[in-house]
Amino acid sequence: MSKEEALFEIREVHLPMAVRLCYRSNRGLALHMLSRGVSGGRASVERLRELEPHSQTHSLFSRSAIGSFFQEQPQLTNPFIQDPLLRTYLQRHLPAQEVQEKLCCFGEAVASEVDALGRECELNPPTLERFDPWGRRVDRIITHSAWQRLKCFSAQQGLVAEGYEANHGVWSRVYQMCKMYMFAPSAGLFTCPLAMTDGAAKVLQSLGMPARGAFDHLTSRDESKFWTSGQWMTERRGGSDVARGTETVARRQEDGSFRLYGFKWFTSATDADMTLTLARIADEDGSTVTPGSRGVSLFLAEVWLGDGSSNGIEVQRLKNKLGTRQMPTAELLLDGTKATLLSEEGRGIASIASMLTITRIYNTVCAAAAMRRITQLCRDYACKRSVFGKLLKDHPLHTLTLSRMESREEAVSCVGRGCINPSSTSSSGRKMGNEERSVPAAQAALTLPSQSGDGEPCLICLVVAFTRSQQLLSTDEQFLEIT
Ligand SMILES: Cc1cc2nc3c(=O)[nH]c(=O)nc-3n(C[C@H](O)[C@H](O)[C@H](O)COP(=O)(O)OP(=O)(O)OC[C@H]3O[C@@H](n4cnc5c(N)ncnc54)[C@H](O)[C@@H]3O)c2cc1C
Repeated sequence: MSKEEALFEIREVHLPMAVRLCYRSNRGLALHMLSRGVSGGRASVERLRELEPHSQTHSLFSRSAIGSFFQEQPQLTNPFIQDPLLRTYLQRHLPAQEVQEKLCCFGEAVASEVDALGRECELNPPTLERFDPWGRRVDRIITHSAWQRLKCFSAQQGLVAEGYEANHGVWSRVYQMCKMYMFAPSAGLFTCPLAMTDGAAKVLQSLGMPARGAFDHLTSRDESKFWTSGQWMTERRGGSDVARGTETVARRQEDGSFRLYGFKWFTSATDADMTLTLARIADEDGSTVTPGSRGVSLFLAEVWLGDGSSNGIEVQRLKNKLGTRQMPTAELLLDGTKATLLSEEGRGIASIASMLTITRIYNTVCAAAAMRRITQLCRDYACKRSVFGKLLKDHPLHTLTLSRMESREEAVSCVGRGCINPSSTSSSGRKMGNEERSVPAAQAALTLPSQSGDGEPCLICLVVAFTRSQQLLSTDEQFLEIT
């Protein structure tokens, strides 16, 4: 068959026949003839290819509508290998070869497994099953299997445990946060329950282990024992001003435990196994509570009772949020929730403070991690995207943009590292607390974005960006060509 005959068969025979059958509304026959036409068309196209291998056959059918060009997408590869600055930092502080190897393996797992799980969580947000098929109120939060797998993965990898096992002495937190730094941008927000879990363990530790069993669950590497914790503070009146906002009342029981009655307005990762929460202890006749921060005490409550029933917790609804949709955030009515008093009476806010410190550190590290991931993907894209006849990485202005992104991202990482670096000391030489440590780091780091502003980049920004690009050039093969 000649080229002309093949074209004729496709254009003049198969397609018009299929279209006519469609018009006649004989759907069964139309479909049958369409498939014949399509397979006939395919056969003809194959014949065309044989006759003229270089012909642009894609323009004949559906491809003509969307074109034949598909941009190669940026790929996530091992974030540890792709982060020379992180590796250099570790070589200085945690030089053991074993550390680098373990983190490299972890980075591989993030790229090959965790990233897909995080994506699944984004596509499958949690739902609330309020009643069972027989009409009983159950208030079960249904999460996707990927979210549950992330919980198992976190336990196996000791993402919370690392901070308490002290395998790397005073640098254990740094090691843990290096893992978190790689994990966070892929993890579908599972870092939120991990932050609260870590914070709860820290509170228990700082209070002298009033609930050893719970601590063991929170810091377990065994996925069947590992618990996550919530942090139920915010109530209807607000979240910042907890001293005025806390209306939940704790009633003392004869066995020394308490029952909580109140409404928690914003509880994230509500599929947790336990929570730390605040309430005001009522006096003996149950009618009076102490106002202000001096009336607020800290409690631990398990979400489910031993028999699998709810611990007096009604899920009013799941929040319909703008972001963080992968994770359940709920409004909860506490109606006689069994709880254990953790703090001294009236020392609730002071006692939960270390949980807030831990969660803030997670926020800082996760923010820096997100910036790092964006930069990593942009760099990969610059090696794949061609414009004006050359790859983006070969355009000096684009390289400068990437360098600026890197320098800003490093500034934020610097704040995070300042928070967790155990060797940080104040000007007087004494060890600094977490918040105090972050101040000099933040001052140094924030100089950069604040001076660069939105307009023309200032000299310091250019110098840092240039220095950073030199580091890139010397440490990353992808950019060697630019020199
Ligand atoms: C996605 C998401 C998840 C959350 N998860 C939880 C959770 O798990 N557990 C929980 O307990 N809460 C949770 N919250 C609630 C959160 O902690 C509160 O929203 C937060 O504490 C702020 O409280 P607010 O919303 O009442 O704002 P407000 O207290 O009304 O604050 C409004 C604004 O005023 C500023 N402001 C407040 N006080 C001061 C001050 N003294 N000086 C200067 N500025 C001030 C604040 O920074 C803010 O910009 C969550 C919120 C969100 C959005």
